[in-house]
Amino acid sequence: MIDYHIHTNHSIDAEGKLEEYCKRALSIGLEEICFTNHCELDPARDDSYICFNGRREKFTRQGLLRLQDEILEQKRENRNSGLSIKFGIEIGYYKGIEPRLHEIIDGVELDFVLGSIHCLDHICIDSSREHTTYFSKHSAHTMLVNYFQTVEDLVKSNFFNAVGHLDVYKKYGIAYYKDDIDEVIVESLQRIYRMMVEQNIALEINTAGLRRIDQFYPSSMIVKYAREQGLDMITIGSDAHRVEDLGKDIAKGLEYAKSFGFDAVYRFNKKQPIRVKI
Ligand SMILES: [Zn+2]
Ligand SMILES: [Zn+2]
Repeated sequence: MIDYHIHTNHSIDAEGKLEEYCKRALSIGLEEICFTNHCELDPARDDSYICFNGRREKFTRQGLLRLQDEILEQKRENRNSGLSIKFGIEIGYYKGIEPRLHEIIDGVELDFVLGSIHCLDHICIDSSREHTTYFSKHSAHTMLVNYFQTVEDLVKSNFFNAVGHLDVYKKYGIAYYKDDIDEVIVESLQRIYRMMVEQNIALEINTAGLRRIDQFYPSSMIVKYAREQGLDMITIGSDAHRVEDLGKDIAKGLEYAKSFGFDAVYRFNKKQPIRVKI
């Protein structure tokens, strides 16, 4: 079993040290974990940070390299433990981020780059504090059109190995928009999946939704279009922001994936996909 979406206390909204996650991974029998701390780079927002020893600093290439060193140290310590450890990152995508992203990550030996949408119009739609600021100005339909347009831009940018929590808008959208949130912008979604197939970008099955809204990200009405478009690459992650959530519902998530006909999950090494049968 693997977990490819994990935040440690290097992310401003997460807790738990690298070594605590590694210890926990061994105790629950995970074979491979990939740390994917946040990298938010929007200059219009005040969340572009990386944390060390409880202190936050501006997210820079130097900070990312320091994190890489800490992860390498954990790799060394766990050399003979049977646990494989990967160095990934979760980039909060917005259009126009690309030059800044090049500066920060080019040449850094990442194993896995996860691309996620957290913000629309610089407002974090998966934040308890901020989502109403965006939602109150847009119908569910307009929000969804804008969201999936941003996902198209993310996929086109060709920076990423996988798309994270593809329908994260429902985290607060279900309560806010009720049934209107269930609309699927089918043509846009089909284009997204076709581009993902062409560019070898995986779809993430994210189990955090189960802890919040009793649904996986993405839900079945979003996943089913993936298979129709020929997508067969998935990754899986708990999106743990604290140690006790590591590996949570991964087995369930794999069963969920199988129910759509996926027969493999992908691991990554230096951004190269590795197929593992499920
Ligand atoms: Zn995320
Ligand atoms: Zn995350």
